Amino acid sequence: NNELQLELRMMTYGSDQILLLARDISKIQRLEEMRRDFVANVSHELKTPLTVVRGYVEMVQASETALDPHWKKAFTTIETQVSRMDRLVEQLLVLSKVENNVDGDKHQQVDLSRLIISIFEEVQWLNQDKNHSITKDISANLSINGNEQELKSACLNLITNAIAYTPACGVIDVSLRDDGNKIRFSVKDNGPGIKPEHVNRLTERFFRVDKSRSRNTGGSGLGLAIVKHVLNHHHGELSIESEWQKGSEFIICFSPEIAK
Ligand code: ADP
Repeated sequence: NNELQLELRMMTYGSDQILLLARDISKIQRLEEMRRDFVANVSHELKTPLTVVRGYVEMVQASETALDPHWKKAFTTIETQVSRMDRLVEQLLVLSKVENNVDGDKHQQVDLSRLIISIFEEVQWLNQDKNHSITKDISANLSINGNEQELKSACLNLITNAIAYTPACGVIDVSLRDDGNKIRFSVKDNGPGIKPEHVNRLTERFFRVDKSRSRNTGGSGLGLAIVKHVLNHHHGELSIESEWQKGSEFIICFSPEIAK
């Protein structure tokens, strides 16, 4: 649409002067909308061919005919890469959805305490190889108004990142509590930590500190971008405290307007 969109800024000088600045951001907004639509459409279109390729790979792998070792290796590689691409496309679709706030009207009372306990049940298998010691300090009955699916993907992302980036036998502390005027969810690990110059960039799309390591962990670089957008429409704030080679703490604070 060609609506004029203005960004307004008001500044006060002393007690009797006000400066009002108006900037036309219509073009920037239109370009941003085009970018979002493009990403959503491409991701959507990629789903079908990927499903077909995956289907054929699985069919060959399941066939009775014994495969030559070279072909076997080739098919295993194709399967791994197709799964990676599948996850990436899935994450892109989730990101488009949260960026466009598609489910903005689906807010309801969400019991965060129960949601986080249920996430732990899901991630148990992920931790099997890593054997981390995970402590949980989850206060009961803490609810907020929001979209359950989106809140789940935000909390899940912080927990799975801690598991993925912390070397085996690490320590991960997860807590959820009412801080009086905020609900505070924290995931703390004693993993590799993040250098200060990288911390502010973590929520950018596709930003990964160490691309090859993230690739090995199956990362897409979209997880924290999704978290940021989910929090944008849940009055939530993400803060990251990290010390290089010591560990990181990712904290989400939900403000009282929605915390009940
Ligand atoms: P990815 O899919 O690569 O994990 P994210 O957006 O979730 O993407 O995270 C972005 C980057 O932030 C990761 O690639 C990693 O470099 C860094 N990161 C995230 N969580 C942690 C953590 N707990 N410890 C160390 N680095 C982390």
